[in-house]
Amino acid sequence: MSEIKKKKTILSGMRPTGKLHLGHFVGALENWIKLQNEYQNYHLIADYHVLTTNLDSSMIYQDSIDMLIDWLAAGLDPEKSPMFRQSQIKEHTELHLIFSMLATVARLERNPTVKDQARDLHIENMTYGHLGYPVLQTADILLYKGDAVPVGEDQVPHIEISREIARRFNNQYGQTFPEPEPMLTQFSRLSGLDGNAKMSKSLGNSILLSDDRETVKARLRKAVTDPLKLRKNDPGRPEVCLVFSYHKKFNVEEINEIENGCRSGELGCVDCKLKCSSKISDFLDPIIERRKYFEANLDTVKDILKTGEEIGRNKARETMIEVREKMQIG
Ligand code: ATP
Ligand code: MG
Repeated sequence: MSEIKKKKTILSGMRPTGKLHLGHFVGALENWIKLQNEYQNYHLIADYHVLTTNLDSSMIYQDSIDMLIDWLAAGLDPEKSPMFRQSQIKEHTELHLIFSMLATVARLERNPTVKDQARDLHIENMTYGHLGYPVLQTADILLYKGDAVPVGEDQVPHIEISREIARRFNNQYGQTFPEPEPMLTQFSRLSGLDGNAKMSKSLGNSILLSDDRETVKARLRKAVTDPLKLRKNDPGRPEVCLVFSYHKKFNVEEINEIENGCRSGELGCVDCKLKCSSKISDFLDPIIERRKYFEANLDTVKDILKTGEEIGRNKARETMIEVREKMQIG
């Protein structure tokens, strides 16, 4: 009868590995901000997940606060979207343990994202915890009964594993969890400045959300372009140019002009990059302004985290009570 449909739930997180870059924004954060009006959002600072690629934990707290500031500065609203740290809600590790019995080693070894990461970071002997990354991530999502997970393309194989685990749990112990769906943006894999298919902090090929105008300009100056466009007046091929792909996101108004100028050879790469960096900075400036506010009001940031963690913990406890009941444990 009721006209009010229950809002669907979103759960999505990021690893606090330093300040965020444009890839994080266009692949995920932008969608979180857009969808927080329609969905019940929960956002996770995946601090334990940092340990999969770096055992030095001394920066995790600072990086978590920095990332939270990036989220807030970009427009995530704490009134709508509780934000919390994985390490502060013990139910994540508890559900992870149960789920680890529902995922086979062979299945986890077939995960292409972990293979890419091992190659990019030269990891030869992967730990048990790293291989199990998607299992912990499944616990992160399903503790909040996430229906939808807005992420970048690299995360889609992980969500597939989450769906399988949810199905297995439900078949074994009775219907408990939704099978979460990934939600991609149009820019679900933003390339890095070096032409690598993924802009990534660890590959050093990124533009940060906190980079000022001079930095963006300098970073973009080094970006790869069409390798066949050698001189200013050579005709270029926008379809293979990295900078053009950035224009498509950050300079929609001038896209035809840029494309024609590049193809005809009238627009050289230097000018094209200047136009692009200026547009990216126009987009970043308000974020940087808001960042300053939060940096000057760290107590507010910590309060937001505290409140988010209380809300998250309550929801997580509720789910674990149900899980134990379904499993007839305790
Ligand atoms: P980095 O390698 O830069 O540290 P990451 O991949 O480790 O980044 P995660 O915490 O794993 O960061 O990812 C956070 C979210 O941002 C995920 O949804 C991921 O898909 C998305 N993301 C990260 N980089 C990109 C990118 N270059 N393009 C699109 N989405 C991205
Ligand atoms: Mg990653």
